[in-house]
Amino acid sequence: MNSNLAHDVYINQGKAIALANQVDDFLKAKGKVTQIPFGQSGVSRSKPESYTTSQETMRKMMTRSVSVNRPVLKTIEKKLTKEQQRHKFNFDAKTKALDAGQNYFEGKCDLHGLTVYKVYKSGKCHCVECRERTKQLRKEASA
Ligand SMILES: [Zn+2]
Repeated sequence: MNSNLAHDVYINQGKAIALANQVDDFLKAKGKVTQIPFGQSGVSRSKPESYTTSQETMRKMMTRSVSVNRPVLKTIEKKLTKEQQRHKFNFDAKTKALDAGQNYFEGKCDLHGLTVYKVYKSGKCHCVECRERTKQLRKEASA
């Protein structure tokens, strides 16, 4: 009794696998990616050579940690927000300054507008005026 039911399930399972294989073969013949393995993603790049938003960077870090070998899908262009545009401007200016071996560059600060930024070899940078302001505020708070 039960064995007949189980038998039907196995027959249907076999049909499903055969159908899935046919679909895969059809898509492969058309040159399409059939299925990205579970737990993997298509976005992959080892080192960012241009500005990436923090969301993109995090996405890349997470997908990289899942798997190294996986199909690569094309990246979808997303319009940058005003804040991201400011970060991109600073990133480009910073990269230029580092390449030229300079310690300072002109960047856009949220508070001070176009102003002088200090950049370190590590790639970190900050607004000079903001740093002074922070120092001043700290001094006032402790006094
Ligand atoms: Zn500033």
